[in-house]
Amino acid sequence: MYTAGMIEVYCPGCAELQVFEQPPCVDGHGVDCPEWLCLTCGVALLIDVPVEPAEWLALTLDSRAA
Ligand SMILES: [Zn+2]
Ligand SMILES: [Zn+2]
Repeated sequence: MYTAGMIEVYCPGCAELQVFEQPPCVDGHGVDCPEWLCLTCGVALLIDVPVEPAEWLALTLDSRAA
């Protein structure tokens, strides 16, 4: 239904399920970038996408430190 770069998750901004799109990553995360944007309200979320646990942890720590 959606392209690989889109997912449907609960949006805290819209208070309902919305389609999120992964924007072009400027931080070097590549396809494992945890950043997603709500197509409806534009809120940015860090979403736990299926990646290696160690990689996800590193990405999370990087994001919090930035
Ligand atoms: Zn990124
Ligand atoms: Zn939203």
